[in-house]
Parts: sequence; C-alpha cells; structure tokens
Amino acid sequence: MDEFELIRRYFDCATDVDGVVVGIGDDGAVLEPTAGKQQVNVIDTLVEGVHFPKGFNASDIGYRVVAVNLSDIAAMGAAPRWMTLALSLPAADEPWLEAFAEGLHAAAKEYGIALVGGDTTTAPQVVATVQINGEVDVGTALLRSGAKPGDTIYVTGTVGDAAAGLDGLLHGEPVKELLNRFARPSARVTYGQSLIGIASAAIDLSDGLYGDLHKLLFASGVGAEIDMACLPLSDALVEHYPPERQRKFALGGGDDYELCFTASMSPPDPGVMRLSAIGRVTASTDLVCRLDGEIVPFDDSGYRHFR
Ligand code: ADP
Ligand code: MG
Repeated sequence: MDEFELIRRYFDCATDVDGVVVGIGDDGAVLEPTAGKQQVNVIDTLVEGVHFPKGFNASDIGYRVVAVNLSDIAAMGAAPRWMTLALSLPAADEPWLEAFAEGLHAAAKEYGIALVGGDTTTAPQVVATVQINGEVDVGTALLRSGAKPGDTIYVTGTVGDAAAGLDGLLHGEPVKELLNRFARPSARVTYGQSLIGIASAAIDLSDGLYGDLHKLLFASGVGAEIDMACLPLSDALVEHYPPERQRKFALGGGDDYELCFTASMSPPDPGVMRLSAIGRVTASTDLVCRLDGEIVPFDDSGYRHFR
C-alpha cells in the first residue's frame, strides 16, 4: 500500500459538512467561509514518546489529536468547521491506520467537522498534526487578555485526571476512568461558544491549571487568588491518590483540556457538565493559592518543551 492508496482508504471519506468546495484529492482544499465571520486557526501536534507513550492505542491517538485542537477552538469561542491532518509514520501498518482513522473520524463526526486535506510521510516515529479552521462573529473571539480585578475564575469539568491517568499508565497501574480522560478529552466546544459576551478572558487547560491560568493572567495584566478547596476533583482522583498528589495533579498536571475563564456576570448554565468557581482576579500580578486561608506555595508553571 503506497501513500495514495493509504489516503484513499483511510482518509478520503465523503462528508456532508458545508462549505467544502474541493476536499481531499487536489493540491489544496477550497473552502467557503461564512460571509461576515472571522476565521480562527489552530494547530497542534502529538509526537510519540513526547505526548503519548510508544504503543499507545491508535484509535485514542486519532481521537485525541482532533480533540486537543477542538479545545483551542473552544477556548476562542469559535465554531469548528474544517481540518487538515499531517501524519508521519514508520510504516503503513494497516491495523494501526484503521484504528487511528476510526478515532479521528469519530471525533470529526461528533463535532461536525470535515477532514479536507493533509500530508502523509514516513518518519522514525508517529507524529500527528491537526490544523482546524473555525469561525466567530467579527470581534467576538474569546481572548486571554480581558480579565479584570474582581472577576470570578471558573473551571469546567474536573482537573488532574488526565495527568494522573498517564502517570498510572507509565508506572504500570493505570486507573481506567483517569486514563480515559487522557485518551479521550472532552473539548468544551458548545460551552465555549456560549461564553461569548460573558467571559472576560478564556484559555484551555493543556499544560496544567496553574501554568495556564498564569498565562491568562499575564496576558490580562492581573493576578489572582485561588482556593485550593474549590479545585474540581473527580471521585476517581480522590479515591486513588492522597490529597497532596491530588492537588499536584490538579494544579500542575497537563492534558485536562477543560476551559478556564473569568467573568463578572453569571456564567451560562453548564447542564450536566461540572462548573466550579475556584477564585478571583486581583489587581496584583501574583497567582496566589490558598488552602484554609493559608498561602500554599506552588512553583510549577506547567509543561514546557525544551525546559
Ligand atoms: P501534494 O503532493 O500536492 O502535496 P499529496 O499527493 O501529498 O498532495 O496529497 C494528495 C491529496 O491527499 C491532497 O488533497 C492532500 O490534501 C490529501 N492528503 C494527503 N495526506 C492526507 C491525510 N493524512 N489526510 C487527509 N488528506 C490527505
Ligand atoms: Mg501539490
């Protein structure tokens, strides 16, 4: 199976998503953006051995590479529309490709987006890059930079699960529910769009709550106080780890793909999703964590490549 057969077999699927004038098969995709909207463009790469361990479930890699991009789209309040995929693989391993494509197409279907192009190459290890194009009404995109002193800080879902799940996997004792949060993150796309006009600033949590909140605060020129007792922890995290490790995963662990946002008015109804107020924006530029009123030092500023 050569490159072209591989693309035809696994990636060139019919789509009923609007706006695809020319999809897979030509030198470039021709897309019809909605008149009067602004485009939001995001891209994220998953590298074997860096973002997931060698041998990780291919279907989950396919799902996850779409979901992590959708999470950026969600943090901008945008509606996702089209994606492209650059995939590098050591070999055209059919069961692997079948599973990867199934996970990728499942995520695309779930969120109503179309795969419109890509690139396929050989490489010593698996590298998957997805780029997604979304849209927002002009001037409405949620930014990191609008937080104001007095705003409440909110977090969707629970934090720390994915990092704990991955840690468990690497140490040979994964907790299924926690690992599943790493493998299949829930991008908060609909909720992100509902925050337009309400959130003063937003960011998605890819590198850890403490570090990512710090980025939002820095972009806004403000600080914050967070109450560690308000961190949203899952039952599974609480059941399997002692309190100190729970907090370390919740504040410093990456891969949650939840939204963190600030608002001065009441946030939209989250429905069945959990939504937690974890603190308040301050006029200083420090990020202070408190537990029972006492300041708890926390100096991890999240995952960084090349560090
Ligand atoms: P070119 O050589 O012009 O860059 P290719 O021959 O690499 O084009 O790709 C042929 C077609 O298949 C293009 O439309 C490209 O966008 C698409 N394509 C290649 N790899 C993928 C992939 N992994 N997923 C989706 N579409 C792909
Ligand atoms: Mg070409």
